[in-house]
Amino acid sequence: MSADAQPILRLALPSPLRRLFDYRAPPGVPIARLQPGMRLRVPFGHREVIGVLIEMANHSEVPADKLKAALELLDARPPLPPTLFRLCLWTAQYYQHSLGDTLSWALPVLLRQGEPAEARVERVWHLAAGASLEDPRLARAPRQREALRVIAQHPHGVPQPLLAKLGLNKDSLELLRDKGLVHIEVRRHAQAPRPSHWLAQPELPLNAEQRQAFEAVRGGFGRFGAFLLAGVTGSGKTEVYLQLIREALEAGRQALVLIPEINLGPQTLERFARRFNARIALLHSAIGDRERLDAWLAARDGEADIVIGTRSALFTPLQRPGLIIVDEEHDASYKQQEGLRYHARDLAVVRAQQEQVPIVLGSATPSLESLHNAHSGRYALLRLERRAGGAQPPRYLRLDVKSRPLDSGISAPLQQAIAQTLAAGQQVLVFLNRRGFAPTLLCHDCGWVSGCQRCDARMTLHQRSNELRCHHCGHVERRPNNCPQCGQVDLRPLGAGTERAEERLAILFPDYPVLRIDRDSTARKGAMDKLFATIGKGQPCILVGTQMLAKGHHFPRVTLVAILDADGGLFSADFRASERMAQLIVQVAGRAGRAEEPGRVIIQSHLADHPLLVQLTEQGYFAFAEQALAERRAAGLPPFAHLALLRAEAHKPNQAELFLDEACSLAEGLLAEQGLSGIELLGPVPAPMERRAGRYRAQLLLQTNARAPLHRLLGQLLPRLEALPAGRTVRWSLDVDPVDLY
Ligand code: ADP
Ligand code: ZN
Ligand code: ZN
Repeated sequence: MSADAQPILRLALPSPLRRLFDYRAPPGVPIARLQPGMRLRVPFGHREVIGVLIEMANHSEVPADKLKAALELLDARPPLPPTLFRLCLWTAQYYQHSLGDTLSWALPVLLRQGEPAEARVERVWHLAAGASLEDPRLARAPRQREALRVIAQHPHGVPQPLLAKLGLNKDSLELLRDKGLVHIEVRRHAQAPRPSHWLAQPELPLNAEQRQAFEAVRGGFGRFGAFLLAGVTGSGKTEVYLQLIREALEAGRQALVLIPEINLGPQTLERFARRFNARIALLHSAIGDRERLDAWLAARDGEADIVIGTRSALFTPLQRPGLIIVDEEHDASYKQQEGLRYHARDLAVVRAQQEQVPIVLGSATPSLESLHNAHSGRYALLRLERRAGGAQPPRYLRLDVKSRPLDSGISAPLQQAIAQTLAAGQQVLVFLNRRGFAPTLLCHDCGWVSGCQRCDARMTLHQRSNELRCHHCGHVERRPNNCPQCGQVDLRPLGAGTERAEERLAILFPDYPVLRIDRDSTARKGAMDKLFATIGKGQPCILVGTQMLAKGHHFPRVTLVAILDADGGLFSADFRASERMAQLIVQVAGRAGRAEEPGRVIIQSHLADHPLLVQLTEQGYFAFAEQALAERRAAGLPPFAHLALLRAEAHKPNQAELFLDEACSLAEGLLAEQGLSGIELLGPVPAPMERRAGRYRAQLLLQTNARAPLHRLLGQLLPRLEALPAGRTVRWSLDVDPVDLY
């Protein structure tokens, strides 16, 4: 055979380039041993990287003498099961991302670095049966004799890592092994056995609504089906998940549960751990690399029964998948905003389809996308309308603050309501989605404002640390004593953040503790737990916080929820702002009145009569959602249209726009050439915040009613963009189904 008839290996490499790379097989590795999905170490430029074999080919564009050989084959079998490999291919294609980079996001860090993809094994040295210290062969080998004596003292054997500690020398042991006096046992790292009965705690008898939802999903076991479990906060969604998981476990299957990052509190996890005798693998951003790999392998090899994790846990392989659950499916943290911009909820549905298992998307405030899918019949809608514990739903009051004086964001009627609640021995939750003391510092003499030098944004005043901080790029400056422009000293904080609300409330209500809960106050480890412990005692107090307060936690003693400012969601240019505001309001409100006392929700707004706000507070989230969907339909916005956003940023003004101009012409050319219609190109325009972290940003929006032509266009456009010389001076990225247009 001539050399050029040898199969070529096509590898995906950790590179942003949307292409595969050709190599020859590593020396000494027969072609027959190679399978797609295996990892190989290869030379790449001046580095060595680890790639994944995608396919074999007989021909390469690379001339034979330029084609390099891979250095090493790392796997005896593909680390990724075929189903997950397929999910990665699908993901790369759908999000128009490099396959190599997609695999990098999907694989645990240690696997990307070449670590063996097998569960850890431990080598243990044992005394062989019949071995004796008096063995004549040891008469003139005192070191071997001593080693044998030490081994003999350990009836359960000596694990390899302990050899050095016991003063044992490996060479002596190998010699003993040659003589048949010791042997090595290779055993899997401590693995818990599969439990025989699953419930560690009795289940609650389901109410009628819960039972109906439960039966619907259970009836769909063993095949794909998507269920939107829309249940008000406290309606017992989690109880339904738990019982479905038990069903899956009893059927010999594994369950995958995705939760938002913020719900990873002990409360959620404890609930699963308390219910089941199950091996639970936990996957989230805060665990170490080794732990992550172990959990990943346990899931893949069927040694974990339940996998719970945040966004990226979606890519955990499962040996026997039976059920997928996405809790709080509307949560924005499911969308990754950098690199591979995937949406874990959407991919979870794709995965369920590929694996032929049912998926449950649960939320008290379903996303408009999911509701639309339910209306069109793609998802089955399951509603839970009553609170399971019998608690009353909260009552809403819209408080018009037009031309009312606000004291650090707090109106007089609200102050009275707070006073009343505290006096009744109950707790108050004050919600304000803005950290810091004030969003701006203003010079009263010359009008200077605290702009960020790197962004088109204001720096937020943080009083505690006496700093100005940019919440967009992280830039920090000391708070100036004098105006940087005119030198005067009358610098005034403008607007209110949580710090200011906290300070003011502490002055207004000196007899009660005021607890602030936001990213600043909970940054220190353990701070959060301490705050929650204080609240849990049930004494009257005021909680002030950001959206951290809106999720996952239950505050049974809170009977008044105050939303200081609902206007942002009604004024914003972002078409999703009102949806987010409604979800936040309902989620925050859901924290209250879970016990016997019903909750009250006071919403301060300058637009108290806004139809969306009226609908939300008088008829509930679903009425709001219908109205919002009708508006989206009329405006031709998602979910009735599909978007892709091409973003670019550069150090010099205009560079990003010039690049996008070229991209736009290329796209127009392709559209004409292919006869593709129904795709609108909007822009390029400067990004709403044009300068951020020292870069000038611009964007080009692609909008369509049908995904297929859009994906055809993108598939051809992106390789051309990669080849554009202008692309070298800008950073650009594509966001398919962007959730944030800014
Ligand atoms: P959700 O997940 O919808 O917020 P949970 O499952 O947390 O609701 O349930 C809210 C509260 O109601 C919990 O205290 C839970 O123990 C209780 N609960 C749930 N289902 C039932 C039931 N069938 N009978 C009695 N109490 C229930
Ligand atoms: Zn000034
Ligand atoms: Zn900044």
